[in-house]
Amino acid sequence: MKIQEADAKSLLAAQGLPVPPWQVARDPSAARAAAERFFAAGAERVVVKAQVLVGGRGKAGGVRLAATPDEAEAVARAILALTIKGIPVRKVLVSPAADIVAEYYLAALVDRSARRILVMGSAEGGVEIEEVAARNPAAIVRIHADPYLGLLDWQARRIAFALGLGAHLREAVAIAKGLVATMRANDADLVEVNPLALVREVGPEGIPTERLVCLDAKVTLDDSALPRHPELEAMRDLDEEDPVDLEARRHDISYIRLDGTIGCMVNGAGLAMTTMDLVKRAGGEPANFLDIGGGARADRVAAAMRLILADPNVRAILVNIFGGITRGDEVARGLLEARAAQARTVPMVVRIVGTNADEARRILEAADVETATSLDEAAAKAVAAAARVGPMAAAEPSEANR
Ligand code: GDP
Ligand code: MN
Repeated sequence: MKIQEADAKSLLAAQGLPVPPWQVARDPSAARAAAERFFAAGAERVVVKAQVLVGGRGKAGGVRLAATPDEAEAVARAILALTIKGIPVRKVLVSPAADIVAEYYLAALVDRSARRILVMGSAEGGVEIEEVAARNPAAIVRIHADPYLGLLDWQARRIAFALGLGAHLREAVAIAKGLVATMRANDADLVEVNPLALVREVGPEGIPTERLVCLDAKVTLDDSALPRHPELEAMRDLDEEDPVDLEARRHDISYIRLDGTIGCMVNGAGLAMTTMDLVKRAGGEPANFLDIGGGARADRVAAAMRLILADPNVRAILVNIFGGITRGDEVARGLLEARAAQARTVPMVVRIVGTNADEARRILEAADVETATSLDEAAAKAVAAAARVGPMAAAEPSEANR
């Protein structure tokens, strides 16, 4: 689950990391009010930032500075009218603007092949790390943290020196360790600060000082660990949630949309992956991964059918159910009911094995649904059915465009 910058910053702040104060506003006048507060507290300028779950907001015009409340309101209005990478901006974050001396990149992420948390840093902050990796890979420092001990002091110091932050060693060490702590405390997949900025501030006696601040924050939480953190559920941004994902979660169905044409409805994650492999081997491309879960009841079957058919690329459905506690005949009836309730029908090939499989087959064949005994056979039949539909659909573009 991706969370917005403001929420990511609150997780960093909870670990004691330096983030500028902020306020989130959903309309220009609220942004103005927030800006007025920061100006009253001594800010010379404020920064207004689009809150959307994609990167590159700066380049898209979604991060702008303002020197007066009027300007903050106008800038917020402009940003709230933007659509960034297909996502309409619905809220902005307002902060006192930092006076940036230098920008760095620092992130903690899961390195699956090493089975460790990887901390990556670069003195080239403010640009995307993929760009640095492509252009100048030597500019990136990588250090693995211990899964139990976190990032050790000497490791954090090594990162700080590699970034040229020797003069700010104490702060840099605390921030590097803090990113890993944030990751472990919340079961995050990614905690990225880009830019980590060295900013100029004027101290109480008018003496300028420099300190490190997390100016941007991107956190991705591990969905599988969310049940351990019920408080983080509130950070889910329903504004940006794909309605199909919402529907899938509501029915406890694991659904991942893919690019192919064969919709797959399967019980069990392993069986679902096997099914996708065999679709590929039969020359087709799966349109989705779908694990309908245990005890596939009629309402779940219907929901799964809706999810699959909501994808316009689907030209055939392959149902592969292993009946155990789930009774095959019930699934068969559920499938027919679900199909009858759909506006769009596509060919369906069903393989049901296990409990009451014979009865399931009789029910399906009586309703003219193609069945299969082996998974290979089912995959081949589904791919053939999709191919039969394919040219037809292509020959009638007006139908699809209407
Ligand atoms: P992103 O483009 O989505 O990654 O958004 P960022 O929050 O990283 O902002 C993009 C760029 O805007 C940063 O790299 C900075 O150069 C600039 N920026 C962000 N906040 C401030 C700020 O408070 N003051 C100044 N001067 N520039 C900022
Ligand atoms: Mn950024």
